[in-house]
Amino acid sequence: MRIDVLTLFPQMFESPLSHSILKRAQEMSLVEIALTDIRDFAADSYRKIDDKPYGGGPGMVMMPGPVFDCFEHVQKLSPEKGRGILLTPQGQRFDQAKAVELSKEKRLILIAGKYEGFDERIRIGLGAEQISIGDYVLNGGELAAMVIIDAIVRLLPGALGDEDSAKDDSFSDGLLEYPQYTRPEVFRDMKVPDILLSGDHAKIAQWRKQQALERTKKWRPDLLKDSDKK
Ligand code: SAM
Repeated sequence: MRIDVLTLFPQMFESPLSHSILKRAQEMSLVEIALTDIRDFAADSYRKIDDKPYGGGPGMVMMPGPVFDCFEHVQKLSPEKGRGILLTPQGQRFDQAKAVELSKEKRLILIAGKYEGFDERIRIGLGAEQISIGDYVLNGGELAAMVIIDAIVRLLPGALGDEDSAKDDSFSDGLLEYPQYTRPEVFRDMKVPDILLSGDHAKIAQWRKQQALERTKKWRPDLLKDSDKK
């Protein structure tokens, strides 16, 4: 898979992409992540990519020219056309189902905004899908892009040490994950449930399923309502 990110701050990605699973997935060539600086496509020598909003109001708006030129340049970097994604709080909310869907693509092109966001013609003209990572406003799309990349890459076959790791994760079957325990057996008077020490795998699986259901009912009943709708 190839993921391109169009951003004004490529340096922000250095640390997240050079550690842990994201680093390993790139080393194993499961994913290639390419960053392109939108500012390189500014039309003037001041590298200006934003301007005041027509009609007045606070802040600066990202101009369409540099974003279009950058997007069209990036599209040509690989034979695969790619699925364009505009990061915006106005987009469809990102969730595990979307992560699974995107992880099956051969190529994604994520566009991170800044300031007051994109000139409307970027949304209209690029025809890119709009995705939000939640109902709050970030300063820029970089953190949103990193969240999406992280959630997708861990789903790529071979990215996690153990192929089954993602299978039981919260949301993968519409429920929160069951409680996990590791050593020591007793910690500050809190003991690991006996069932997990029993060695009876069928009973453990049944207990985990029950626990997952109970905690979803208690903490995220909305997830159960969502699954009713499907
Ligand atoms: N004025 C815009 C609005 O109200 O819709 C928000 C602009 S925001 C300050 C700047 C950029 O951050 C956006 O263009 C987008 O790329 C990114 N961003 C902010 N919140 C986001 C979210 N929840 N999900 C994805 N991207 C977000």
